[in-house]
Amino acid sequence: MLRQVRRLIIAGCFVCFLFAVYAQDAAANEKKIYDDRTALYKKTEALTHLPWYYIAAIDQYERQIDPNAKDDQLVSIRIPDEIWFGPGNVTHINEENLLLLFGGKGKDGNGDGQADPNNPEDVLYTTAMMVTEYGLNEEDIKIGLWHFYKRALAVQTIKQTAKVFKTFQHIHLTDRDFPVDINYNYSYRSSWGDRRGFGGLRIHEGTDIFADYQTPVKSTTYGVVEMKGWNTYGGWRIGIRDIFNIYHYYAHLSDYNKDLQVGKVVKPGDILGSVGSTGYGPPGTAGKFPPHLHYGMYKDNGKSEWSFDPYPYLRKWEQIARQK
Ligand SMILES: [Zn+2]
Repeated sequence: MLRQVRRLIIAGCFVCFLFAVYAQDAAANEKKIYDDRTALYKKTEALTHLPWYYIAAIDQYERQIDPNAKDDQLVSIRIPDEIWFGPGNVTHINEENLLLLFGGKGKDGNGDGQADPNNPEDVLYTTAMMVTEYGLNEEDIKIGLWHFYKRALAVQTIKQTAKVFKTFQHIHLTDRDFPVDINYNYSYRSSWGDRRGFGGLRIHEGTDIFADYQTPVKSTTYGVVEMKGWNTYGGWRIGIRDIFNIYHYYAHLSDYNKDLQVGKVVKPGDILGSVGSTGYGPPGTAGKFPPHLHYGMYKDNGKSEWSFDPYPYLRKWEQIARQK
């Protein structure tokens, strides 16, 4: 019996050891991919003068809209063949001069004479050249992005993500926090998709976190304040878009952090305001229901935006907040 226990303990330790090694490896691999990407973005900036944080933001946006993107993929930007090789060019030969003849936009970024749509340096260089066709100041880049995507939300998301990367001088931004201060009393359960108590037959697009008035409301992620103000249902609400094409919606606040304006960059833990019961009436209406934070999440896939259940994420972020 004793021997069996000892054997079990040894086996257990070995599993723990393997897991620790695996976790360490995973963290090192993750850091390496972020470092490798950053090096490529900075190299592209040196060649094209498009600031690296714009190049990083375009790649980040594309990684979120590509359903087949893998975590360890170096560069996720995909330029359609017709644009890369030129209309009607079915040869798919990477010779830069041949592409020019067909009006293809594909360019050689690493100096090997080939404009290869599968080479990360060529793809980043080509993208930067297309985006800077109208110039290099902020407004020119916005126009360049518009011509590249022809979609307002894509331009908005990339501009905001670039601002986050520029602010923190980093692309490896994985910290998170819980949306209410965990040192206060609060409770929540999974309620996404329930019928609402108010507002007719619309389904409940979020999780309600019940807490007292004045409980601090915090940003859960890195992002930019995209919307702030009154909404008939949401009351005093705030919308933050993060760097993963996710829109975070905080509703029914009693007040806002005075420093918070549309366009401001936030990080996990930044105070947005406090819990209240505003909404379901004209501006200032409050007290029609118990105070709570309504927290919603919406994902943009490059074509449309849809609501998904924040509950599993809230559980995870609660653990992260407890370890701080
Ligand atoms: Zn709610």
